[in-house]
Amino acid sequence: MPDRDIRDALGLRPVINVSGTMTSLGASIVVPEAIAAMTAILPQFVEINDLQRKISPVIARLTGGEAGFVTASCSAGISLAVAGAITGDDIAAIERLPDTAGLKNEVIIQMGHVVSYGAPVDQAIRLAGAKPVLVGQATSTHRHHVEGAINERTAAAVYVVSHHVVQYGLVGLSEFVEVCHARRVPVIVDAASEYDLRGFLAAGADIALYSGHKFLGGPTSGIVAGSKALVRNAFLQNLGIGRGMKVGKESMVGVMAALEAWETRDHAGIRARETGYLHLWRETLEGLPGVKPVVEPDPTGNPLDRLCVNITPEEAHITAWDLADALARGTPPVIVRDHEVEHNYFYLDPCNLHPGQETLVAERLTAELTKARNSNEIIATSLAERNARRFASLKRWPD
Ligand SMILES: *Cc1c(COP(=O)(O)O)cnc(C)c1O
Repeated sequence: MPDRDIRDALGLRPVINVSGTMTSLGASIVVPEAIAAMTAILPQFVEINDLQRKISPVIARLTGGEAGFVTASCSAGISLAVAGAITGDDIAAIERLPDTAGLKNEVIIQMGHVVSYGAPVDQAIRLAGAKPVLVGQATSTHRHHVEGAINERTAAAVYVVSHHVVQYGLVGLSEFVEVCHARRVPVIVDAASEYDLRGFLAAGADIALYSGHKFLGGPTSGIVAGSKALVRNAFLQNLGIGRGMKVGKESMVGVMAALEAWETRDHAGIRARETGYLHLWRETLEGLPGVKPVVEPDPTGNPLDRLCVNITPEEAHITAWDLADALARGTPPVIVRDHEVEHNYFYLDPCNLHPGQETLVAERLTAELTKARNSNEIIATSLAERNARRFASLKRWPD
């Protein structure tokens, strides 16, 4: 970590991130190789499409695709890939989007994949002028649902890989690809938060999309990889809806450097360090009244475990969400992964910590749990009010 923390100067709280790679917390710790490349390019002019041309083979090498380019985010990648499937390389059509009159514009997606990553997946599809066609039910999709939805207006199909999606009862990627390809429908995979850069294209996807700022530790960006013609058609959207999703030279070289660093990263060493953090936290919490820490694997198979902290409020004297809020309010603020906190558990994610922060997290957990245990009442505020407060506070921004 740098000696001087810029957050002090800005009057921002020095948050410790044990929630994962969150846009709301500034994504990830950018790797030094990317920072150096970004600093080097910022004062220079470049021919921007040539720069993208240089990045394409690097993306291709790491993903196994034929080509690739960098855009603003994985979310932008969804819109651009869908737009490319609609317009092809017709520049007049590209400029006309999101008006798709006279073009194929239906995009198939399993209902159990229509989730929110901070914004709705289906909105990223609709931004391109496409009409999402939701197939199956939230927890049950079969081959016949996908087959039955394909018609002469089908432009593409989107498949989402995420801990957010329903993890059972849906059509798997290979079968999804098989059904779509039988009717010449290209498959776009949203793999924003996946460690595996090759598997989805290898499984037959035509385009795979990644966030540059998640596991890769690049600047905020998105990577579009896959078949050359489809990637090119997505790239051409920079003449249209892609303009508002553009990235500068710094993000382009930053992602390229992060991809190259990925090839030499000590993946096993990082995993071992993260496992050490989990063990420290588990030992810290084990035996405390009303607290049950359990190490759990990542639901989509990323090489990452998290610590699930289960709370019994009657014994711990606090609910999981009140504990999460107390940790976030305190000094230093510790932000936990609380997507499913209504079940009285949250997760500690070890992959975005600077060395030494694991100890601070352990100390803060102990302090808040001790304080709660010593309270005469059980701290249990209303979850509905907690949610309402979050949106109310957003709606008051910037005050
Ligand atoms: C994070 C995420 C996104 C959004 O990625 P950005 O690059 O932040 O736009 C989309 N889909 C999934 C599954 C994600 O996890």
